[in-house]
Amino acid sequence: MTTSETLVQDLREAVSSGGLTVVYQPQFALDTGAPDGAPVAVEVLCRWTHEVDGEVPPSTFIPLAEDALLVEEIDLQVLEQGLEQILEWQRTGRAVELAANASPSHITLDYAEAVIARLAVIGIDPAFVTIEITETPTPQLLPDMRGALARLRAAGLTIAIDDFGAGDTTIDMVESLPIDEVKIDRSLTQRADAAADAIVTDVVARSNSQGWRVVAEGIETPEDLARSIARGCHRGQGYLLGKPMGVAEIEDLWLR
Ligand code: C2E
Ligand code: CA
Ligand code: CA
Ligand code: CA
Repeated sequence: MTTSETLVQDLREAVSSGGLTVVYQPQFALDTGAPDGAPVAVEVLCRWTHEVDGEVPPSTFIPLAEDALLVEEIDLQVLEQGLEQILEWQRTGRAVELAANASPSHITLDYAEAVIARLAVIGIDPAFVTIEITETPTPQLLPDMRGALARLRAAGLTIAIDDFGAGDTTIDMVESLPIDEVKIDRSLTQRADAAADAIVTDVVARSNSQGWRVVAEGIETPEDLARSIARGCHRGQGYLLGKPMGVAEIEDLWLR
């Protein structure tokens, strides 16, 4: 097992040599009947295969990248790979949106401008792109982040709060941010009790009145799917509907 110091060095090397890869997890509309056939969106997720340790999960390398100040570069590289891919899909008649993750530690005006510039260079309509904020911003990060999110939204991108219900983010905190989408964490999606129903239906009601989208994550069973539809979630994502996969497997979804 490689020590974490060596792992950080190896990660730095992977980032600078283009050694990170990506997979895509499909999202389906839940408000238009059974979620089969073509996905409405794909979430691009980063993958790193270490030469000794094999596949290192993002839950291990993203925190390392965070500490080593590599996460902004990773997020931009992953976004760029996703943009190139949806461009290719769009060219072959498969219009699909892209969602990419961003750590709040680097959501500044510089990051927003870098994102907008990449979309322009690659030639993707910002209406096809969602940036998912992966954790609750601390109060110190908020002022910088607000301006950056406003810039991204003004350019036409969609902003999502990821993993709602996993931490201590409340819907009141979410309502104070300039966003367009809430992703319901799998812990809430998979909870069948009345309290979880009440939390999610409240998020959906408030989101509907704000014009936001609600995406249920972690749909693993037909019950999770039925529950998410009954709660009014607009889109769904999870192993039942499609695991994170490579390009060829995503393309098969259009053939179903
Ligand atoms: P996330 O953004 O919440 O991404 C969804 C994670 O849940 C993915 O794990 C996915 O494989 C997993 N998942 C999807 N459906 C299901 C399901 O039905 N059941 C269960 N149990 N899990 C499901 P993954 O790819 O290991 O990523 C973990 C986290 O690492 C992501 O959570 C995200 O926070 C972070 N991450 C991944 N790629 C990036 C990236 O490029 N940039 C940043 N900043 N973070 C990333
Ligand atoms: Ca963090
Ligand atoms: Ca995410
Ligand atoms: Ca999530």
